[in-house]
Amino acid sequence: MSDIADRLRTVRAQIDEACTGVGRDPSTVRLLPVSKTHPAQAIRAAHAAGERTFGENKPQELAAKAGELADQDGLRWAAIGHLQTNKARIVAEHAAEFHALDSLRLAETLDRRLQALGRGLDVFVQVNASGEESKFGLPPAEVATFVGSLAPFDSLNVVGLMTIGANTDDRVRIDASFAIMQRLQSQLRGLGAPGSFDELSMGMSGDWAAAIAHGATVIRIGTAIFGARDYG
Ligand SMILES: *Cc1c(COP(=O)(O)O)cnc(C)c1O
Repeated sequence: MSDIADRLRTVRAQIDEACTGVGRDPSTVRLLPVSKTHPAQAIRAAHAAGERTFGENKPQELAAKAGELADQDGLRWAAIGHLQTNKARIVAEHAAEFHALDSLRLAETLDRRLQALGRGLDVFVQVNASGEESKFGLPPAEVATFVGSLAPFDSLNVVGLMTIGANTDDRVRIDASFAIMQRLQSQLRGLGAPGSFDELSMGMSGDWAAAIAHGATVIRIGTAIFGARDYG
């Protein structure tokens, strides 16, 4: 598990270098390690190396790990995957951040669950910036209206936007999807939309450098830290 500490060190150094390369202060980019499919032991290793918040995409897996790792100091969970309304309770109970808000019905359910628990949740609105059929998230043109409709949900702290970059090796298309997010963020700020919109959650193991060039403040990295996932 010391390889996890080594890889974390490497990734952090690469992030710092990429930030400097595009004239950004490295402290404005947060690395979010994505631990999905990896065992609790891998999370303990990353925790020992200084990480505190971990991304999971399946609510049941997140809840199981939260239970298993309850002894770890200051551990926080980020739910990063598409969420069905009937699993909202699990996220409300265990997560500090939710990166995949994409419907009003889900916002209502999450808010109700959070109110009952007396908890709050930092949320990122998921945008389908690549236009790919297979992707969740709102079309960019619908985001401003959607965000306006979130105002009544007091337990949801809207901090920004999230996207998954275009699923391609074509750097031009990847850049284009991240550029859409950056424009959308400044548009929302210009409109005075509720929420701060300081955060842009985008970039994964294969495309995080492009995301940083386009203003990402949270990059979600699994494989480059924990190794390949085994879905067997
Ligand atoms: C799995 C996952 C990641 C991490 O992907 P890697 O390519 O392993 O870095 C990031 N974001 C989301 C939403 C994911 O589901």
